[in-house]
Amino acid sequence: MRARGLKVKVFEQAPAIREVGAGLTLGRNAVRLLRRIGLEDQLQRIGSANMGLTLLNSHGAPIGMSPLPARARLPGEFDSYSVLRAEFVSLLAEAQPPGTLHFGHRCVEVDETGAGVRLTFANGACVEADLFIGADGIHSFSQREIGVKTQPTSGGTMAYRGLVPVECLPWARDLRSLRMWIGPGRSFICYPVSRGRLINIVAFVPADRYGTESWSAPGDLGSLAAEYVGWDAHVLQMIAALDETFLWGIYDRDPLPYWSTARRSLLGDAAHPMLPHLGQGAGQAIEDGFALAVLLENAGTAQIPERAYERLRHAHTSQVQAASREAGRFFHSEDGDAPRRAQQLASWRAAGRWINEYDVETAATELLHEVA
Ligand SMILES: Cc1cc2nc3c(=O)[nH]c(=O)nc-3n(C[C@H](O)[C@H](O)[C@H](O)COP(=O)(O)OP(=O)(O)OC[C@H]3O[C@@H](n4cnc5c(N)ncnc54)[C@H](O)[C@@H]3O)c2cc1C
Repeated sequence: MRARGLKVKVFEQAPAIREVGAGLTLGRNAVRLLRRIGLEDQLQRIGSANMGLTLLNSHGAPIGMSPLPARARLPGEFDSYSVLRAEFVSLLAEAQPPGTLHFGHRCVEVDETGAGVRLTFANGACVEADLFIGADGIHSFSQREIGVKTQPTSGGTMAYRGLVPVECLPWARDLRSLRMWIGPGRSFICYPVSRGRLINIVAFVPADRYGTESWSAPGDLGSLAAEYVGWDAHVLQMIAALDETFLWGIYDRDPLPYWSTARRSLLGDAAHPMLPHLGQGAGQAIEDGFALAVLLENAGTAQIPERAYERLRHAHTSQVQAASREAGRFFHSEDGDAPRRAQQLASWRAAGRWINEYDVETAATELLHEVA
């Protein structure tokens, strides 16, 4: 938004950027946008380039490879990156001029005042602005402020997360793709982050007693190992190399009926939390930001179609939410039938294409031209 001349202030409840969460993937749709605002060099400095996804069964036999389709690249340029969440958040923060980010500000009230909005914070501060965008994640307080109430929906799985130094896994030193093992009701994915220094692992297992949406509840390494007895040696090696693991409740929410009022709207997980199986949580939040930037750039002088932001984003993000649920069903199905699997993989690849090729800036510009 700043790149298009808009004045933005960010109020974050945390006192500082902390090392929370683990790996995130950024698909081609998000990387393309970050490249346009000059952030790809920084992304290359913290990220690990992905060349695709390799699928294996629980014993390590290949099911298929889903390479990212080739396209002309500049030297050193990649389509998809895996990053450590904290490093990526720092990268975005460092790209802001002083005075943009305000930590230790937990927003507790947002009132529309007619000509603008008034924000009240738990620390007693009050701020006036033209617009409010609630980008406050899956437990969104802003969602409730605009009058929407949703319940978390579980895909029936939970995950153990962890990071392993690459020195512990000699076979992973040259890993350039996401690698995923699929077995009955379970899957296990790993990919490099932090320029290959660490291997991020996520082990999806059936949800049972852990009914939490937490990112960071401590998990038990013995229970994790018990879930994967008899699996491929690489999986067992990664579990054995973990010093600690965290539990991640896997939830999304159904698409919202609406997500804006006159001067308040939502962005990212606050508007459309999704299951992690297509790695699009961060990417769709980034697309939202670019959509708002295009739509608001000339808001002072140009006519913006009514509910333009929702018209642009609601259907698309709802489809990504649905495709992420579908991918989860595919990854955790117990169906061992090879032709059926191949067919499912083909449709899953097709899903990846419409998500990765989508250019939100072009779509937003076309929407504006409809009324021009
Ligand atoms: C702690 C944490 C760890 C995560 N770890 C992973 C991970 O390991 N892998 C993965 O794939 N995804 C992870 N995610 C999710 C992923 O980052 C999001 O799907 C994606 O980044 C979408 O971003 P978002 O900005 O919409 O929401 P989020 O990334 O959830 O960011 C929301 C922000 O709003 C702040 N906030 C919330 N309420 C208020 C309030 N009232 N006032 C002010 N600030 C508020 C939160 O502190 C947070 O910084 C994590 C998210 C969080 C918050």
